[in-house]
Amino acid sequence: MHLTLAPSGPGDVKRDLEVLVTDLAGQLLAVTSMTAPQACTAVLRELVEHFDVDACYLRRNDTVLDASVLVAEWPPRAARAGPDPMQVVPFRDGATVLGIRAHPREVVFAPVRAETYRVLGQAVSSNGHTTVAVPLRTGSATVGVLGVVVRGERSWSPREIHALQAVAAFLTHLHARVSAEERLRFLADHDELTGLPAQHVLLTELRRRLAAPEQHPVGLVHVAVDRLKVVNHSLGHAAGDEFLRVVARRLTEAFAGDLVVRLGGDEFVLLLGEPARLGEAEQAAVRAQRSIAAPVALKMENVGRTASIGVAVAVPGRCGATELLNRVAQASTTSKERGGNTITCYTEQMHTEDAVRTDIEMRLRTAVQGHGLLLHYQPEIDLRTREVVGVEALVRWQHPVRGLLQPDSFIGIAESTNLAGELGRWVLQEACRQLAAWRRARPGLALQLRVNVSPVQLITADFVETVAAVLDEHDLAGPLLCLEITEHAVIHDLATVLQTLRGLKRLGVQVAIDDFGTGRSSLDQLKQLPVDTLKIDRGFVHNVDADPNDLAIVKSIIGLAQAFGLDVVAEGVENEPAAEVLRALGCPTAQGYLFSRPVPPEELERLLDTTFAAGLGAAGREAC
Ligand code: C2E
Ligand code: CA
Ligand code: CA
Repeated sequence: MHLTLAPSGPGDVKRDLEVLVTDLAGQLLAVTSMTAPQACTAVLRELVEHFDVDACYLRRNDTVLDASVLVAEWPPRAARAGPDPMQVVPFRDGATVLGIRAHPREVVFAPVRAETYRVLGQAVSSNGHTTVAVPLRTGSATVGVLGVVVRGERSWSPREIHALQAVAAFLTHLHARVSAEERLRFLADHDELTGLPAQHVLLTELRRRLAAPEQHPVGLVHVAVDRLKVVNHSLGHAAGDEFLRVVARRLTEAFAGDLVVRLGGDEFVLLLGEPARLGEAEQAAVRAQRSIAAPVALKMENVGRTASIGVAVAVPGRCGATELLNRVAQASTTSKERGGNTITCYTEQMHTEDAVRTDIEMRLRTAVQGHGLLLHYQPEIDLRTREVVGVEALVRWQHPVRGLLQPDSFIGIAESTNLAGELGRWVLQEACRQLAAWRRARPGLALQLRVNVSPVQLITADFVETVAAVLDEHDLAGPLLCLEITEHAVIHDLATVLQTLRGLKRLGVQVAIDDFGTGRSSLDQLKQLPVDTLKIDRGFVHNVDADPNDLAIVKSIIGLAQAFGLDVVAEGVENEPAAEVLRALGCPTAQGYLFSRPVPPEELERLLDTTFAAGLGAAGREAC
């Protein structure tokens, strides 16, 4: 080892060194990870010039590669064909001085080995060179090395060595800052759990592909692991996380040329690298399904999960990135709704349905404020006398473009967009206004009004007060109104619903359970509920004269109603034989196309003024 220390130099050299160190420190302060390589090269160049040496290099220790990696050097070596052997030098290949791993604490003076020199290039010859290697240290770790190569013997004064150490310290700080910055950038661009690229990387790439001038179709596959919750609950969240990491790894391996991204939770998206039509994207989905299917060993258990997969394809210019992502997620949700372990392709039909839904959603708010909603009324008939004993108010929407809409196309949207309460208030108000008007025009009219109520209305705090106020406003007695609720609404939040029902009872308002037989309310729950009527679902009624299963169900519901002292109404009566069977079974009241379809109020007035007889079904049908 050549360790030649010269005595301290004259005063101006000392100042010179201080100026150099301060200068370099200043230069390094403003450096970012983007400008670091050039800045380091500039520093090395100044060192070469100042110390009049042959070469300087800066290397960092890479713990993952277990190697010393070149960061910057001066002077640049002549370009050579093939990979640069100095770029990454594994420690096991003798990079001890270059990477200074073996002598981490001290400055090392060492002869440059011939083979090392050969790769340093022709700027220096292969004999009689020494290197001064100054470690870059943070705490107890050596993170790299600042190297100075000099031809022949050169004495180094302690001040010069200190100056090199000071520069090495600045470079260490820079290294720490750049690493932190790079780590932050990595975290921002990657999912922390799986290390996959983050969602915004997907969006950027998707936008780029969908803005491309070529009309190549872009294929997306959305993968949602089925029932991951069960893994989290039974084996713990760490096991769930490990499962997701395995899925990420398998997808990355299976889709090497594609972009695999985790959206969060149990959802992944694959952006296919090659242009893909729907069929090809579907093939990719099958591969994804297979790669997830193999069991994963977690905590001594083999855990197998399936996936709900969606596929969507779009041609540039016809669909935005967010929209395509929504489409593929929707297809995946459809797979989940079908019970999971399924692939669903987003089709033109889904696209049309989507467009309708979005349009309805946008206009419904105005409609609910009373602009465009209207009520049709469907009578309820006493099966023995064929008299109209009640009417059900059924909401319609005169859509500005799509014409008259039936409730099935907008009630669900109202419920999912918090508009159900407002819609319900409008219906109640309008139906009560109408009943009051009919009663004024026909003194003594014995007609009960039935109004459908959304589940959300039943758990709204002031629902009972609203009903009371509306009845009061139109001077209607409580028993003239019957609210129809579904079993589903009741089971949802039994305690609150019970409170509401008791409040309604105090007003004398009646309550019917709609679509009875389709829900799962138990006898016990039924006993607790202060309801007055069961309305047998039309699904069991319309074929009751022909289907023995339906007959059995209808029979048992009627029996149940009688046992509990409840009224019973059969809805969906479409023909005389069905009406006859119901009458024979002791069902007092019915509703259905046989008697009348839901009709506008003027039409109902005509029906009210007629005596219902056997032929009325035809009249009702004509009215529509
Ligand atoms: P629902 O309460 O079961 O209403 C009865 C539905 O059955 C009505 O459909 C009616 O037209 C139809 N119907 C009546 N008789 C027959 C028949 O003989 N055969 C067949 N196949 N169908 C028959 P509509 O008017 O389309 O209403 C559908 C659903 O929309 C209603 O089912 C109800 O759940 C909901 N709905 C209607 N109006 C309102 C409302 O004001 N508020 C709330 N929350 N829901 C409403
Ligand atoms: Ca109803
Ligand atoms: Ca019903």
